[in-house]
Amino acid sequence: MDFELTNEQRAIRETCRDFAREVVAPAAEELDRHHKFGYDIIRQMGELGLFGLPFAEQYGGAGGDHLSLCIAIEEISRGDAGVGITLEAAVCLGAAPIYEFGTREQKERWLPDLLAGRTLWSFGLTEPEAGSDAGATKTRAEARNGSWVINGAKQFITNCGTDISAGVTITAVTGKNGGESEISAILVPSGTHGYHVLESYRKLGWHSSDTHPLSFEDCEVPAENLLGPRGGGYRQFLHTLTGGRIAIGALSVGVAQACLDASLSYAKERRSFGVPISKHQAIQFKLADKPMDTELARTIEYRAAQAYAHGGQETTDEVRMLAAMCKLYASEASKRAADNAVQIHGGYGFMEDYPVARYWRDVKVNEIGEGTSEVQRMLIARLLGT
Ligand SMILES: Cc1cc2nc3c(=O)[nH]c(=O)nc-3n(C[C@H](O)[C@H](O)[C@H](O)COP(=O)(O)OP(=O)(O)OC[C@H]3O[C@@H](n4cnc5c(N)ncnc54)[C@H](O)[C@@H]3O)c2cc1C
Repeated sequence: MDFELTNEQRAIRETCRDFAREVVAPAAEELDRHHKFGYDIIRQMGELGLFGLPFAEQYGGAGGDHLSLCIAIEEISRGDAGVGITLEAAVCLGAAPIYEFGTREQKERWLPDLLAGRTLWSFGLTEPEAGSDAGATKTRAEARNGSWVINGAKQFITNCGTDISAGVTITAVTGKNGGESEISAILVPSGTHGYHVLESYRKLGWHSSDTHPLSFEDCEVPAENLLGPRGGGYRQFLHTLTGGRIAIGALSVGVAQACLDASLSYAKERRSFGVPISKHQAIQFKLADKPMDTELARTIEYRAAQAYAHGGQETTDEVRMLAAMCKLYASEASKRAADNAVQIHGGYGFMEDYPVARYWRDVKVNEIGEGTSEVQRMLIARLLGT
């Protein structure tokens, strides 16, 4: 298989790498410390075209593919994983379902602003009692007089509470199908009566990203806000999460790379017993593992992203398997990398003066969001035919 990047993909990598080094990384400490959303950074990323990367030019996209997006997410996350997840969720969870399953009217109404990064759309799947078991959704939408009336709650939803949040796609039970819940996807614009964005969470990491619980109380939207066919919500979110998992893999690779960069330069400067610590074999071995782990994770990220892009709306078992392996391997590699980076920094690694403390707090969630490591292992085992 061909791992050569196209000229466009190389250009995206260089642009995002420069932008992350010059704009994202220098702001990261302050955004993290004050739990601030980086509006100005998001605006600039919009101007660079990052929110439209994998979409057709017809709606203001750049005409790229999933690999182009993953390369961008990787580089931006090297500067700040909180900004990386904002991009990932906005594109993979927010805009992509509308792009892939929306009607022409829905696309024309929402996509131009979303693809320009002027607005953000979020994805409301997780509920207080339905996380890994997302099919156990309890939120209900009742068809009434040409509307959907929604009641229920969602939790841990990214990008729903910013000043530029335009709405959320929720999954809701819209009826029964032979004893099974019929789950549909419905678009709920921000400001709709009965749609409440509750107080933001106090998180361990990703402080520059926006995460809130949501509640819906007799929230009424027009019948035409159904996304895709009635009852198609389950299939849609499985497809959406497949793309999202590869992108979380990319985010993880970005942080793993940042851990390597920080550890190598620190190890060359910090001295003990009369030499830089990079001369001690114990430190060298820790450093040696990092490019190996990062490069392996990047390789499966590229392979999975290409396979996902080629498959279009049809997610084959092969693509699902690659996506699960990508997320699982890369998220665990990022955790090893951050743990190692803190260790190489010694006591300073435990202080917020160096970015590795933030990396360490940020990586844990890579093993949780968009399907936990246990869920990825379950999926891989199921696809093996167990
Ligand atoms: C910062 C952040 C942002 C998020 N953003 C979004 C978002 O934008 N939209 C959205 O819809 N969701 C979002 N999520 C939710 C995320 O996808 C869920 O947290 C995740 O899928 C796990 O669900 P849960 O938290 O309910 O854990 P649970 O499902 O309750 O799992 C708890 C533990 O049990 C394990 N477990 C569960 N079932 C099994 C099983 N059958 N076998 C073995 N182990 C099992 C899990 O692996 C985990 O270790 C976000 C989460 C976070 C933390």
